[in-house]
Amino acid sequence: MPHGVLAEMTAKSAKTAASAAPKVSDYYGCNVFGMETMKLLLPKETYRKVQDAIEKGERLDQDSANAVASAMKTWAIQKGATHYCHWFQPLTGATAEKHDSFIDPTGTGGVIETFTGQMLVQAEPDASSFPSGGLRATFEARGYTAWDPTSPAFILETAGGSTLCIPTCFISYTGHALDTKTPLLRSIEALNKAALGILSYFKSDAAKVFSTLGAEQEYFLIDREYYKARPDLLLCGRTLFGAASPKGQQLEDHYFGTIKDRVLAFMTDLESELYKLGVPLKTRHNEVAPHQYECAPVFEEANVAVDHNQLVMDAMRRVAERHGLAALIYEKPFAGVNGSGKHNNWSLGTDTGKNLLSPGATPQENLQFLIFLVSIIKAVRDHSLLLRASIASSGNDHRLGANEAPPAIMSVFLGEQLTKVLSDLEKGATTKSTDPMWIPFGIDKIPPVLKDNTDRNRTSPFAFTGNKFEFRAVGAAFNNAIPITTLNTIVAGQLVETKALIDAAMKGGKSFKEAATEVLRRLYKESKGACFEGNNYSEEWVKEAKKRGLPNEKTTPAALKGFDRKQSVELFDKLGVLTAEESHSRYHILLEKYAKDIDIEAKLVSEMATTLYVPAAVEYQGELAKVLEAQKAAGIKSPAQASLLREIAAKVEAVLEGAAELEAARAKADALGDVEDKAEAYCGSVKPYFEKIRAQVDALELLLPAASWPVPKYREMLFLM
Ligand code: ADP
Ligand code: MG
Repeated sequence: MPHGVLAEMTAKSAKTAASAAPKVSDYYGCNVFGMETMKLLLPKETYRKVQDAIEKGERLDQDSANAVASAMKTWAIQKGATHYCHWFQPLTGATAEKHDSFIDPTGTGGVIETFTGQMLVQAEPDASSFPSGGLRATFEARGYTAWDPTSPAFILETAGGSTLCIPTCFISYTGHALDTKTPLLRSIEALNKAALGILSYFKSDAAKVFSTLGAEQEYFLIDREYYKARPDLLLCGRTLFGAASPKGQQLEDHYFGTIKDRVLAFMTDLESELYKLGVPLKTRHNEVAPHQYECAPVFEEANVAVDHNQLVMDAMRRVAERHGLAALIYEKPFAGVNGSGKHNNWSLGTDTGKNLLSPGATPQENLQFLIFLVSIIKAVRDHSLLLRASIASSGNDHRLGANEAPPAIMSVFLGEQLTKVLSDLEKGATTKSTDPMWIPFGIDKIPPVLKDNTDRNRTSPFAFTGNKFEFRAVGAAFNNAIPITTLNTIVAGQLVETKALIDAAMKGGKSFKEAATEVLRRLYKESKGACFEGNNYSEEWVKEAKKRGLPNEKTTPAALKGFDRKQSVELFDKLGVLTAEESHSRYHILLEKYAKDIDIEAKLVSEMATTLYVPAAVEYQGELAKVLEAQKAAGIKSPAQASLLREIAAKVEAVLEGAAELEAARAKADALGDVEDKAEAYCGSVKPYFEKIRAQVDALELLLPAASWPVPKYREMLFLM
């Protein structure tokens, strides 16, 4: 096309072009102090040392740390940052930041900007108000944040100002992990060691194995005015009341539908903000429920991917506000329509660019693939409850086991082809296969696993999808570090065990191939009970899973016991991921968090019922009563209206009685000293009132004048924007 014509076309579309965003590759990562920036700004020697710190975990000497800090400061100030912070992830699930200005008084009335290696590497925020589960007594408030060089520093640019954020671990004075990042990093290292152990059987030139993560993030968007008018969304993240909208998701017309302009403007803004932070967002689309959406990045190394997912959630909330919207990142904001999850695509990659969960082309590669695959299945089988614990929260309880989300039973979906490969393997060399593809042991040749073939079963909580597993049961609001740490750890543990078994068989005189095949056959036999290809939502599966002895814990207090099991505590300890003390503290913190979540909801259920819904209903009762009286005086018979009044009155009574009982149960639970008893009480004796009261209120919503309903209705929140 001649240049002139192109220019003319460009001029014609000037309006869109002018308002269109600049080319992403021109600004991608501009707010990240990553390897590329460091290469440009650091002396060669320092750059090399930083590389070693990142790749080999080597400690950075003081001079190099000073050099990095100095370059970082200059870069950040140029970009408008006035403050820096150690950005960390305490056990609240959120991220935390305490800002410090770069200024340092000169003593003669002025200031200079300083940022030293010491300030980069370590800080000491007052840690007394973060949960520690008894690891740090409140009087010993000291907690340290320590720089994690494997996740790059970045500048968070908000309407309020720009801050240099340094990803850090958060540990107590005694060296205990008080956060989610520290164990994640430890689990990455444990997995690295264990996987390299397996690779040592093969001619692999990999020096490092890491877990990769691509986290698909689901969320809802609603108009911010509605959000502000719903105390339940504001305080709890979910609606505690609300009659179903006549139209919900039954027409299935939202999934992959055209994205509304207002939503697209939000998404575009979100993406450009995240691109600046080097978050590789790739896909965006409408999800199943009305006003439900999803975005997914290109996968990255797990540690960075976890940090990036925290940034995604944070940016979503902020950008939504700018657009007059509210991003609901919660597992079940609305009853009756789909909830939101995080689909964690997880795999194992090497520094040489290999995906270890990709079936290979040669028998050697396939044996290697099967060792990893079978070990993962065995890990899920043995640590099913622990895996369930890693995704337990009061929010996710509404989702797991409900109609549309993977159930609370942790099973593995493999797809038809791999299932056949494994059952052939199990049957062993004596199996005569009619299919020429299956040669002895059934493992030398694996047909290419078609991605489409393996991705059909959307009901599985843990599905193999061609070259990765998709852990779908994770809740939308989760910090991914917890489930990924758990997954890494159980797999690392099993890889170590698998290697020990193979080694033992080889010591007994078997060749590697014979030994590996024998071990795989045995492991698959022991763990295939965790494999399920059918519909995970069905009642038959619940029964079948029970027969197979798979745990099906529907509530958080029961599921969290997975963290407290001897088997789990020992595994975390053995692999250096969590000491027994740290495991125990986590179990307590999560139980406590659950109890607090339900406590807040309980108070709000009572408050909304008595101060919003009951007054509206009572007012309408007064109007109805007046009308009935007038009609009676005029000799008009109106039995239906009289019965309406009676119905409303009965419901108001039921709401008030329910609220009183709820409050009594809540106070009783709150008074319990033991955290396990407390969580149990909130779950078993407090929570059941929510549904009871809600049923009455939702029924009232359908009887009262729409105009006098005190909060936005489902049909408004879900359909008006
Ligand atoms: P689908 O949409 O069918 O679930 P996609 O191919 O779109 O699958 O991938 C979904 C997510 O999986 C993306 O975030 C992608 O980057 C991620 N992913 C792909 N390969 C890997 C891998 N090897 N490790 C981790 N995540 C991966
Ligand atoms: Mg997917």
